[in-house]
Amino acid sequence: MEKLAIVVPCYNEEEVLKLASEALRGVLEDLVRKEKIAADSFVLFVDDGSRDRTWELIEAEHAAYPSRVNGVKLAGNVGHQFALTAGLITAMDRSDVTISIDADLQDDISVIEEMIDKFHGGSDIVYGVRKERKTDTFFKRTSAQAFYKLMGLMGVKTVYNHADFRLMSKRAVQEFSKYKETNLFLRGMMPLIGYQTDCVYYDRKERAAGESKYPLKKMLALAFNGISSFSVKPISMILGMGMFIIFISLLALVYALFSYFTGHVVAGWTSLILSIWFLGGLQLLAIGMVGQYIGKIYIEVKNRPRYNIEKILTQTHGETQENRKE
Ligand code: UDP
Ligand code: MG
Repeated sequence: MEKLAIVVPCYNEEEVLKLASEALRGVLEDLVRKEKIAADSFVLFVDDGSRDRTWELIEAEHAAYPSRVNGVKLAGNVGHQFALTAGLITAMDRSDVTISIDADLQDDISVIEEMIDKFHGGSDIVYGVRKERKTDTFFKRTSAQAFYKLMGLMGVKTVYNHADFRLMSKRAVQEFSKYKETNLFLRGMMPLIGYQTDCVYYDRKERAAGESKYPLKKMLALAFNGISSFSVKPISMILGMGMFIIFISLLALVYALFSYFTGHVVAGWTSLILSIWFLGGLQLLAIGMVGQYIGKIYIEVKNRPRYNIEKILTQTHGETQENRKE
């Protein structure tokens, strides 16, 4: 049976920590009883440099339930995506499968069992997907939806309405740990890993206590980071715009020459208007061209793994070897 680690990033979550610990421990006990996970499965709280009593509470939980509750304290606040990564990589060597979930219990913990079932069914990544966003404000809902659409337009593969509530097998986390980039956007990275994936659906609830640690500023930063770390399309758009404007300048040439010959223009207008359009277009084109190279450098320096081998069938000493779930 596989050992499960539930990874929970926490930033100033003193109000919900005890509640979260209790709820998640309950889920673990239940799954252990049903013999779906190993008896030594645990919750791993990652304190993302909280300024309140979060870490003290994690220590207290660990003291009370040493085998069930573990903790990692980051030296400073590095943000949700990094805190989650730290937790996943710490859990990787100590467990067989991980589930990441927010501390505020907005994600439905009752679908964890379904995630585990799907993992046993052969999926390496199981995404938690929100059915509806009734509890979110109108603004959060529409802005989030616009964001997923925009990501799609920019050619970034993401799972619609999936945040960071997700199950990952040990080998999926191991593969993820090979992505060394610093501009993390986990939701966009997971689909790059490959492997068999699945989804479970749930209704997102209100925060159990405390308030959102994601103000508009952090949300916009996450969105911008998501697009700029995954797509060089904006650069191609500049190139396209340059070409379009040069095309317009050709039309302007025809129009200007026509006006010149029909004699409706002041002296100097023709050459001036043509230079403005043509030079403008040329400059954008040149920036776009340079941008293409910068885009390539950007992709190269990320040094992402180029492929992920899932199975190898080879013959050694007459036996066929398969390396699934090593
Ligand atoms: N979080 C974190 N570091 C931060 C901000 C948030 O670890 O700098 C954690 C937070 O404790 C929570 C999760 O990320 O467990 C999601 O944050 P929140 O629930 O406030 O976001 P929302 O659900 O409002 O988008
Ligand atoms: Mg939340």
